Amino acid sequence: MKKKHKYIFVVGGVMSGVGKGITASSIGYILKLRGYLVTAMKIDPYVNVDAGTMNPTEHGEVFVLADGMECDQDMGNYERFLDCNLTRTNYMTTGSVYLSVINKERNLGYKGKFVSVVPHIPLEVISKIDAAMKENKADITIIEIGGTVGEYENILFLEAVKMLKIRHPEDVVLVLVSFLPAVGASNELKTKPTQHAVRALNSAGLHPDIIIARAKVPLDKKRREKLAFHCSLRENDVVSAPDVETIYEVPLNFEKDKMGENILKKLHLRPKQQEMEEWRNFVKRIKEATREVKIGIVGKYFGTGDFTLSDAYISVIEAVKHAAYFHKRKLELVWLDAEDYEETKTETYTENLKKLLDYDGIVVPGGFGSRGVDGIMNAIQFVRENKIPYFGLCYGLQLAVVEFARNKAHLKGAHTTEVNKETKFPVIDVMENQKKNIAESQLGGTMRLGSYPAVLLKGTIAYEAYNTDTIFERHRHRYEVNPVYIDKLKEEGMIFSGKSPDGKLMEIAELSKEIHPFFLGTQFHPELQSRPLHSHPLFAAFIKAACERSKK
Ligand code: GLN
Repeated sequence: MKKKHKYIFVVGGVMSGVGKGITASSIGYILKLRGYLVTAMKIDPYVNVDAGTMNPTEHGEVFVLADGMECDQDMGNYERFLDCNLTRTNYMTTGSVYLSVINKERNLGYKGKFVSVVPHIPLEVISKIDAAMKENKADITIIEIGGTVGEYENILFLEAVKMLKIRHPEDVVLVLVSFLPAVGASNELKTKPTQHAVRALNSAGLHPDIIIARAKVPLDKKRREKLAFHCSLRENDVVSAPDVETIYEVPLNFEKDKMGENILKKLHLRPKQQEMEEWRNFVKRIKEATREVKIGIVGKYFGTGDFTLSDAYISVIEAVKHAAYFHKRKLELVWLDAEDYEETKTETYTENLKKLLDYDGIVVPGGFGSRGVDGIMNAIQFVRENKIPYFGLCYGLQLAVVEFARNKAHLKGAHTTEVNKETKFPVIDVMENQKKNIAESQLGGTMRLGSYPAVLLKGTIAYEAYNTDTIFERHRHRYEVNPVYIDKLKEEGMIFSGKSPDGKLMEIAELSKEIHPFFLGTQFHPELQSRPLHSHPLFAAFIKAACERSKK
């Protein structure tokens, strides 16, 4: 008999930001553990074709897949929980769906028929889901629909769910992640908003199979009964999902309510045995760590509050956490505003710089444009001269090269042409093949994107960390180290320990361990490949250096 494909849709009720992504990821993890081939998709209701053109304060992090797709940060959660590499088929937006339909229509793909919003848009959604399932050879596809039910924007996606459910009633499960506010001193959980969310789903012709009750505290028996009754579900189809210390605890919590078994039954699949020991031990290690390692992230997307920040740098944060957990440390992460280190912005900038001595390590993550750049470079100079472990990611490498050129290689006024086109020493310059894109404003999906190989130089920090000759890492940039200045930078002690195989692009720059305990920058984004149970080698090496500093 032909194996039937299974679909799990995850939608949100009451409000956004209550953990649909982590729910979808955790369900995926639980089912993968049972031996099923699982893949996960994100549907974003916005009209942008991908996430690449959006500002991080607007949208959060842009996650880059190995094949170069620029997408939503939830894709990073799926990759981290499922420990897999996803593809561009795993992501769609309203914009990308309409674009496909319009292109098909222009190519006579509808054979002269009238093309309408319904059914053609939902049908295209379904065909994209099936394409992802095929591409990933999945038994089960988890599809998270962005936004909240009841919103105008995701109604066509719900229509697709309805169409699939009618066609394949035994192969589709709909999970509603809903929020229960806790009120009063007793923290009583209120079920009414969720009842309304279910009604909104009903009006789209759908009913949830499972409700995840997201709340501050666990669901008590009474509230579980009430929710089940008013939402016409059995009690064991209501899953308690209280706030947790670490997101990696979520799959363990779901299993307390036998979620894996329940979903498999609903999909008419065998509830195979599962072994969660490795994950359980990992979570235990996180919770038991007491010794701290203190890391500062110097960035520039500030003035928007910590919440926005942790959204904009989620993969960096997770990668630092994975490495801290690997070294059995508790992570203290501090956001440091680049403008605090700028002479023109604050009178106390030298005192602020001195406070960096309190940190065990400093990270400068990726970024674009000129704001905060002078502050970042002052901070880099300070940590370089004071031997504080430094890890620069993309812009963090480029600005470290600029700082080094100015202050060590005597190239006064050196800069990246992204910030100063007239600089006398353009040590970071736009890549040759990018000039046309910029001139023609072809800015969507045209950076150097996705996974490329790099060859490592033996005897360097990078080589020691990876312990291999060739690596593959993901990129997202238009600028690069200008080849004209490489010899000069090398003479002054900068080591280019990773290069593209043709030797033309500088992928990793570092200083010798004899000069500095850990000073390294990457043109790529290593954070995108860090996984909870496999800390990224460079993050692990950086945190190791930070732990050594913290002992002193
Ligand atoms: N703005 C730089 C570039 O385009 C760095 C990009 C980044 O940090 N992702 O090359």
